[in-house]
Amino acid sequence: MTDQQRYNAIVLGLGAMGSATLCQLALRGWRVLGLEQFSEGHSLGSSHGDSRIIRETYFERPLYVPLVRRAHELWRELEERSGAALMTINGGLMIGPPDGVVVTRTLRSAAEHHLPHELLTPAATRERFPAFRLADDLVAVLDPRAGYLDPEGCNKAHIDVAREAGAEARFDEPAHAWMPDGEGVRVTTPTGNHLADRLVVAGGAWTAELLRELQLPLIVERQSVFWLEPDVEAEQYNRAQFPIYAHEYKPGSICYGFPRLPRGVKASVMHDGETYEHPDRVRRTIDESEAGPLRDALRPVLPGLAEAAIRESGVCIFTNTPDRDFIVDFHPDYPQVLVSSACSGHGFKFASALGEVHADLLTTGSSRFDLSAFRIDRW
Ligand SMILES: Cc1cc2nc3c(=O)[nH]c(=O)nc-3n(C[C@H](O)[C@H](O)[C@H](O)COP(=O)(O)OP(=O)(O)OC[C@H]3O[C@@H](n4cnc5c(N)ncnc54)[C@H](O)[C@@H]3O)c2cc1C
Repeated sequence: MTDQQRYNAIVLGLGAMGSATLCQLALRGWRVLGLEQFSEGHSLGSSHGDSRIIRETYFERPLYVPLVRRAHELWRELEERSGAALMTINGGLMIGPPDGVVVTRTLRSAAEHHLPHELLTPAATRERFPAFRLADDLVAVLDPRAGYLDPEGCNKAHIDVAREAGAEARFDEPAHAWMPDGEGVRVTTPTGNHLADRLVVAGGAWTAELLRELQLPLIVERQSVFWLEPDVEAEQYNRAQFPIYAHEYKPGSICYGFPRLPRGVKASVMHDGETYEHPDRVRRTIDESEAGPLRDALRPVLPGLAEAAIRESGVCIFTNTPDRDFIVDFHPDYPQVLVSSACSGHGFKFASALGEVHADLLTTGSSRFDLSAFRIDRW
């Protein structure tokens, strides 16, 4: 193999994380190859569909706030580079009992990072956002900088910009194996061997299989998603008066949703799906009876939406770590291999910033963000 064919880095997996990383490395002038086992825009991983929430008052942990602020800037930068509209900021409501996890931790994030926010009673919520009819024992925290991203548009924009900057992105080319090759790596696909100085493993739900030797404690979880069509007071679900929301419907459990988009008014219950050891075994079919728990979770906040007809449904997969924080770290045995994955159902919004973090780690060895919660050897 000639030096001409050797890459600075190979990015394995071109979902949200891989496409952002390919883009950031290509923009820095690295010779990069992205490999994806499925076709462009496929729906078998975690990054397809019409919408992903982005929010700043982060109830999971305040440490994500600086990362999401940078992500915000980079999504806007990607819009400028690609000419595509990717992010809509129409506000977000974090709803729950005043002493619940979502409300108390949202307020903690806002206080720690001095983020704009408002605490709303049920009456004030309804006055501003008429579809939301909160039960008396609930409150809402309004995050004015929340909104949603177009995930397929974001991935395409990252790939397009990467290609313009000289990256090679190959779809329908699965990596059958990777191995260290001196100080670099060798990746084997049906077309042959590819050599590079560095490897980024961004395999989403396939990460545990790609790093079998590490026996990572990752769980693949099936998620059902529904697009509803409320026909009573239908205009109340338009984005001008209907922010994104997360509702803690029982302690620690969340349902969430979006305003009306062309496919309907999307809503889902988080982390109540069947779990699997391998993504290839995930049940991909879905029937309307699965919407029952979602309707129950919506009733105390969006009673109209809870009874609406189903227009469409779909399956997507989460890759969960035991603590629901990500993995962003070098392989413990091979410093030429960077692992980024297991976003535990809340990673998309960060992809633009994580692409930059990965590029920083590979080109300079460090990042300006605190990544200690994302270490690969924390279990
Ligand atoms: C229903 C649902 C709703 C969500 N909502 C939100 C939200 O509102 N906000 C938010 O921030 N996040 C949300 N998320 C989470 C977010 O979408 C994911 O964290 C993110 O998309 C994960 O991206 P990824 O690149 O790690 O994985 P993926 O997008 O799955 O990418 C991994 C890629 O690697 C490829 N691959 C694997 N093995 C190989 C191989 N051997 N060779 C070549 N290619 C390979 C796979 O085919 C895949 O394309 C949601 C997720 C789901 C499922």
